[in-house]
Order: sequence, then C-alpha cells, then structure tokens
Amino acid sequence: MAKWTNDLSTYQICKGSAMKVVRTALVTGSSSGIGYGIAKVLLKNGYQVVLHGVESHAQVAPLVKDLTALGKVLGYYCVDIGNPQSIEQFCNDLSAANISIDILVNNAGIQYVAPIQEFPVQKWDQILAVNLSSAFHFMQHFLPFMQEQKWGRIINISSCHGIVASANKSAYVASKHGIVGLTKVAALENAKQGITCNAICPGWVLTPLVEAQIEKLAADQNISVDLARSNLLLEKQPSGSFATAEEIGEFVLFLCNPGAAQINGASLTMDGGWTAQ
Ligand code: NAD
Repeated sequence: MAKWTNDLSTYQICKGSAMKVVRTALVTGSSSGIGYGIAKVLLKNGYQVVLHGVESHAQVAPLVKDLTALGKVLGYYCVDIGNPQSIEQFCNDLSAANISIDILVNNAGIQYVAPIQEFPVQKWDQILAVNLSSAFHFMQHFLPFMQEQKWGRIINISSCHGIVASANKSAYVASKHGIVGLTKVAALENAKQGITCNAICPGWVLTPLVEAQIEKLAADQNISVDLARSNLLLEKQPSGSFATAEEIGEFVLFLCNPGAAQINGASLTMDGGWTAQ
C-alpha cells in the first residue's frame, strides 16, 4: 500500500483512489491552560481531538462547546490519571468507542512548591504519577497501534524544568527531567517505525497552574499580584513576557507535520531564553 502525507492528514491508496485519513489526537489535560490551547490549534487545523481532564463534564461544558465549534471533538473524558488502573479503563473506553490514537500529547500536569524536607510524600507520589508515569502508561497502550500503522506522534509537554532546576520544586523538576529521558527512549525504540517522540519545554505560560504560584508568591512576600507576576517573569524569563497556550499548540502542530519527521527524541525549549542563561 503506497502512502504519502500532507500537512493535515495521510492519504492512502485504496482500490486505486486516494483516501484521506484524518488523524486523531488525545490531548491529556485539555480542559485548561496549555492543553486547551493545543486542542484548539489541532481542531482548527483539521485534526480530530479527544479532550480530557479531571474536571466534571458539567464544569467543562462551555469549554467543550467552544472547541466543538472549531472542529471534530471525539468527546470529553473525565479521568484521574494519577493511577494506572484508571488510565487502563480510559484507554479501554476509547477502544470501545472505536477511537484509535495517532497523536498522543501527554500534557496533564500538576505542581507543588516546598523545600525537600517539608515536601509531603503524598504530593511527591502524586506529581510523579500524573506528570511522568501517566505518559509511560499511555505510551504502553497506544504505541502498538502506531507501530502497526507505521505512523505516530508522541509529544510530551515537559518544561524548562526538564532541563534546569529551581529550588522548592523537587517533584516537578524530577518528573520533568524524567519525561525528557522517557522521550529519548521512546524515540530510539521507534525511530524506524514512522513514529517520533519529542518533548516541548516551555518557560512561563500564564495558565491556572502559574496563576496559583503567582498568588502564593504575592501572599508570601506581602506584595500585589501584579508585582508578583512581573517579579516571577523578571527572575527567569529574559523575554519578559509569557508564552501563550496557543503558541505551544502551534509547536505541537508543527511536530505533527511531515516537515518535522526527522525531529526525534528532542527537548525543544520555548522559554523566552530562560535556559540560554
Ligand atoms: P493547568 O493547571 O492549566 O491545567 C492542567 C490540566 O491537567 C487540566 O486539564 C487538569 O484537568 C489536568 N489534570 C491535573 N491533574 C490531573 C489528574 N490527576 N488527572 C488527570 N488530569 C489532571 O496547567 P498548565 O499550565 O496548562 O500545564 C499543562 C502542562 O504544561 C503541565 O504538564 C505543566 O507542567 C506544563 N508546563 C506548564 C508551564 C506553565 O508555565 N504554565 C510551563 C512549563 C510546563
């Protein structure tokens, strides 16, 4: 069977004629922030998207409606990916709905800030489970299909904290460095199978995850939220401005394009110069 690709999809020769195959992406944590931005860009560009998050269906209803207006949403799944059993059930539910995943975006993530000696063990376990182990479990489930069809994209949303560290973020930094390593292994194991696996490493992106840190900073230092926001940027991000969730989405889109076929196992920064220092 001959195969070639264009920007949006793969065409397969079937009984002498070209059939367009629309690619399907699962974006974990697409009920908020960066994941929402990624889903938005993929939908606008003709991909089918499975939405996911921990919020209830009622909580995300307006957001799902907005995304549905942009393209083909294959449902919203409310699943806590902090344990392997619920991930397995989620994957089985997708199979039962005849949904195969061509593009896996491991984006869901959480943060907790405290020095190591005060870091709650339960928080450590939870952050490692959600930010790192979930990506392994999803890959285990979806790789066989990608290998069979000889096409797949795995995009892990790491962080500049996958490359450098900050104090008080032990679990987050460990999980984000871990996902950079996992990305390299998945890339090597599948390099001849039409599958790429890359990590995007954003700096500050203004999302609820970062807003919570800004509010904590403002309270700890007894300063205004506006001052805390600009201090946070000035400390690390030379550009002095936040990246947007849609910009991360554009990067994901690029990695799905044929032009990115040889980008594999990379940790791609998008951090306004943070890690260049
Ligand atoms: P966010 O808080 O806006 O969204 C987090 C998403 O993860 C939500 O959809 C939420 O439902 C989901 N989620 C949280 N816990 C979950 C759980 N137990 N099970 C299933 N889903 C869960 O966060 P964000 O800023 O958009 O972050 C998205 C990703 O980008 C994270 O992996 C984060 O580490 C990474 N990142 C963020 C920044 C930033 O500045 N915002 C920078 C670098 C990397």
